Amino acid sequence: MSLREDIARVVIGERDLGQRIRELGQQIAADYAGESPVLIGVLKGAVLFLVDLMREIDLPVELDFIAISSYGGATQSSGVVRITKDLDSSVEGRHLIVVEDIVDTGLTLRYLVENLASRHPASLRVCALLNKRKVRKADLRLDYVGFEIPDEFVVGYGLDYAEQYRNLPFIGVLRRETDS
Ligand code: 5GP
Repeated sequence: MSLREDIARVVIGERDLGQRIRELGQQIAADYAGESPVLIGVLKGAVLFLVDLMREIDLPVELDFIAISSYGGATQSSGVVRITKDLDSSVEGRHLIVVEDIVDTGLTLRYLVENLASRHPASLRVCALLNKRKVRKADLRLDYVGFEIPDEFVVGYGLDYAEQYRNLPFIGVLRRETDS
């Protein structure tokens, strides 16, 4: 059975992902010239984006990971967030770039940004692959955005539905069970 059979529509194809991520990497390299920022990957969804992005940043970057779980339902953010895996190292005095897969309500990211800011980094920016165009519950500044997408549930390229579809190399929308 092919994973792709479950996809109704490709939203962002492999070539467009690669091209935009190259641009983001070059922009970050230019913005942080002379610095050694720490890329903070938000597990698990941002993993594919992070590994592709870091290859395009021609700077001495470091890597760390944080994992969070939302108390909300699977497809609805509650904004009540818990850290399930914290960073390995202190980030005090470092330039941080939070690498996130997708921003929907922004509540998860707002919690994360507030939490990381309290650790006294030298600077803190956010790089999100996808940003949903909708009215935001949380007031949030995104410094780098890959793509603006409509408000629909997407999977692939790190993003899951019930832990599946993360390994699709593109972003797509799932077929509904009622679709034939
Ligand atoms: P927020 O707190 O911004 O509403 O939600 C952010 C988190 O919800 C993301 O990091 C992601 O885990 C999940 N999420 C939001 N929208 C989608 C989506 O369209 N597809 C998938 N797979 N996860 C999503």
